[in-house]
Amino acid sequence: MALLGHPDGDYPPDPHTPPGTASPAARAHLLNDRTTRTYQRVVTEGVERVAHRFASVTHPATGASVAEVAAEFADVDLDRPLHDSRRALEELERLYLRDAVYFHHPRYLAHLNCPIVIPAVLGEAVLSAVNSSLDTWDQSTGATLIERQLVEWTARRIGLGPNPDGVFTSGGTQSNLQALLLARDEACAGVRRHTPSLPRTSEILPRLRVLTSECAHFSVAKSAALLGLGYDAVVPVPTDADKRMLPEGLAAELERCHRDGLVPMAVVATAGTTDFGSIDPLEEVADLCRRFGAWLHVDAAYGCGLLVSRRRHLLDGAERADSVTVDFHKSFFQPVSSSAVLVGDRATLRHATYHADYLNPEDTADRVPNQVDKSIQTTRRFDALKLWLTLRVMGAGAVGELFDAVVDRADEAWTMIEDDPRFEIVTRPQLSTLVFRYLPRADATPELCDRVNRRARQTLFESGLAVVAATTVAGRQYLKFTLLNPETSTHDITAVLELIAEHAALAESEELSRPRVS
Ligand SMILES: *Cc1c(COP(=O)(O)O)cnc(C)c1O
Repeated sequence: MALLGHPDGDYPPDPHTPPGTASPAARAHLLNDRTTRTYQRVVTEGVERVAHRFASVTHPATGASVAEVAAEFADVDLDRPLHDSRRALEELERLYLRDAVYFHHPRYLAHLNCPIVIPAVLGEAVLSAVNSSLDTWDQSTGATLIERQLVEWTARRIGLGPNPDGVFTSGGTQSNLQALLLARDEACAGVRRHTPSLPRTSEILPRLRVLTSECAHFSVAKSAALLGLGYDAVVPVPTDADKRMLPEGLAAELERCHRDGLVPMAVVATAGTTDFGSIDPLEEVADLCRRFGAWLHVDAAYGCGLLVSRRRHLLDGAERADSVTVDFHKSFFQPVSSSAVLVGDRATLRHATYHADYLNPEDTADRVPNQVDKSIQTTRRFDALKLWLTLRVMGAGAVGELFDAVVDRADEAWTMIEDDPRFEIVTRPQLSTLVFRYLPRADATPELCDRVNRRARQTLFESGLAVVAATTVAGRQYLKFTLLNPETSTHDITAVLELIAEHAALAESEELSRPRVS
């Protein structure tokens, strides 16, 4: 008879365990009616450890190198379990918690990661314990209605119509992919309606184009590739000095498509570009989409926080979109992941529908709400619960206050950087990002300027005192603050700017004194 457990003695074979029964030791880990005390104890241990971490974190990062962190894994053998959650948590402290990057720290100013609100963390704990899957009603019941109500609520805030709908997704990347999938299939159907020869899909795809600003998120290009159009199907539209899509540029590209017999399958307008937070002129873009019969997708992954802010007007025009991406995990202070794709006409979601006999047979479609009919995922997390508890506990207004605070702060920071001769800033933010760079002495080459800024960011990260991001503008190296933490003060921003200036000045003097080798 085969031995139970691992040869190294994970669980010693139990001679009293009859076939078809797992050992009591293994069964003790299942969450069920008999283990609720263990569940409470173990999860509380984890919560206490994280709480302790949060209470003692003094810097957003430790700056530990890849080699340093990797070295901690040397004595971990996944085939030799610790049999004890406390010991596993102690080990995790070393492997992860100690050197993790903490987004709640006021000097974490790097990417679009927000500090999260406690009601959402509560939601996360509930949803993973109950573990509903949002594909079908018979796996989710009330969870499906909660998600549907949140989709409706969001669509109403945007003003989408006439028959809005949507579904939660894993993130903006997936939301954009699904929106463009719907746009592609609508475009193919449109071409067939107007072509008597009924061309095959493979004949239509090479003619489809996606128009979006040169500052759009890369997931637009990636989606085009995944949807069988290729990266080249994405036509970049120029932007103005504030990094907003130029309507004249869009009109010119749409006309060019028309002239060349190409089909503008979708225009993607960004409401909050990842680098600059710039919002494309939604009304003008919507006018052009109507004129040329193009699907309008608004990527509000970042800007969706405006829906609950006193700056709601900045999203005016989004209600005319065919589809909208919102990332609650960017500007609604939700834990990853929490995102949704919304559409103005629910009939378009049919392009994501597949009826599987075992799951959602067609004959049940009218009787039971099955969210899988609207999603490109099957098994799907009940992420909506986090936003639900957030709205039920603190309310949309409080979320908006938090977002407005970071946008206000970004404007203050813009003035500070604009007035500081050591730095140069690219645009005045509409949302909460700031792209700027340290300026070395006037006779410095552009390459030296790039190196100095890169090195300043690197040494700052290694110090762990603050974390900032980087990007390029017209091929040159810049630094970026993404403010999403309402606890970040102007004092924090001044302090981080001082650190950057110090590191950059040091790098500059080192670069200048280094012998030139060509
Ligand atoms: C972050 C972002 C995305 C991608 O969203 P993920 O949730 O990271 O997948 C798409 N568009 C914009 C404008 C973004 O800022």
